[in-house]
Amino acid sequence: MISLYFLFIAIITTIFLVDITLDLLNMSHRGKDIPQQLSDVYSPEKYYLQQQYEVDNARFALFHKSLMFAVLLVFFIAGGFGRLHQWLSGFFLNPLITALVYFAIIGLASGIISLPFSIWNTFVIEEKYGFNKSTVKLFIIDLIKSSLITLIIGGGLLTLLACLFYRTGDWFWILGLAVMVVFSLLANALYSRVIVPLFNKQEPLEDGALLEAIKKFGNLAGFPVDKVYVIDGSKRSTKANAYFAGYGKNRRVVLYDTLIEKMSEPEIVAVLAHEIGHYRKGHIWINMFTGILQAAIFLYLFSVLSASTEVLLALGYSGNEHPVFHLALIGFALLFSPAERILGLLTHGMSRMMEYRADAFASSHDMGEELITGLKKLTAENLSNLTPHPLYVFVNYSHPTLLQRINRIKGIDKKCGG
Ligand SMILES: [Zn+2]
Repeated sequence: MISLYFLFIAIITTIFLVDITLDLLNMSHRGKDIPQQLSDVYSPEKYYLQQQYEVDNARFALFHKSLMFAVLLVFFIAGGFGRLHQWLSGFFLNPLITALVYFAIIGLASGIISLPFSIWNTFVIEEKYGFNKSTVKLFIIDLIKSSLITLIIGGGLLTLLACLFYRTGDWFWILGLAVMVVFSLLANALYSRVIVPLFNKQEPLEDGALLEAIKKFGNLAGFPVDKVYVIDGSKRSTKANAYFAGYGKNRRVVLYDTLIEKMSEPEIVAVLAHEIGHYRKGHIWINMFTGILQAAIFLYLFSVLSASTEVLLALGYSGNEHPVFHLALIGFALLFSPAERILGLLTHGMSRMMEYRADAFASSHDMGEELITGLKKLTAENLSNLTPHPLYVFVNYSHPTLLQRINRIKGIDKKCGG
């Protein structure tokens, strides 16, 4: 079908152009004056370094995205998606095996194209700015492990979905949704216990002033914390972070060793107060619910679209087989990518609102000032951008900018009477 074929090309091209325009807009906004409230984040020398880092990253992203776009466009125009299936169907495999092999080939090919970029990013850019701590050996081991995990988990999930698709007809989207819900609950519950230990060591935080302060705050905030772990993030990068994982009895606080090294004790407690805020305000469940809702909409629309033979033709497949799970999935992913971007605007907006709420939770427990100095330190240590373009923030940021957060925290402090 000719018109659908051109619609696909238009979508792929428009998304790429919008993406690149936003990147360029953001890059051009880089020379802006630093707002007064942020004047103490960087020294002049360090700010110069930050600007260089910004340019290096932007150039890298531009090149990476352009190449991926060109490959996708050429492959699509040549009918590569359909031809690959045509070729595989010549082996007369079972449809499930065909789907798996199909995705394995596409996955492997895109992995091979991305690998040089990943190497360049780690060993050239991150290395140049002193972030990288990974070695070639560790990089290779990580690559093998993550490929195996993708193969097992991604392959398993796809097989299950393909199986339901071929056997359950109209019930597919509901049963598929049930699979996705169970999968995301399991993934959340097991992430810290199963996946993280494959890559990092997690050890309980030693008894001492920090643990005492964290426990004291947890009790005060009505959120007792008994499991605090330290993860050896310094093994790969000097960049710092902290997060909560799991829920119910399995929930745990995880601090990067790099965070402990760089922040004062009250600042660490303030960052944790923010994380506890996410829990207390139910953000974990809100995120999970919106994820499920999104999956439900996508699965339903996918099951409707998969009945169309026109999508198969537009992808370059002219055989008699119908429906074809993997081709329908690729057609769907391409066709709905604009809708996905629009949904992304909503979820990013929602996420930024939740960040303000979590900050407000920390400030309402008198941790506002410490949170501000802690966030400033994190920004400086990670060489983060102080003046992103507002449109870029609107589309791509899951967190408000540092300036927005500081202004909001200070406003709240005033409302609470200091
Ligand atoms: Zn947060």
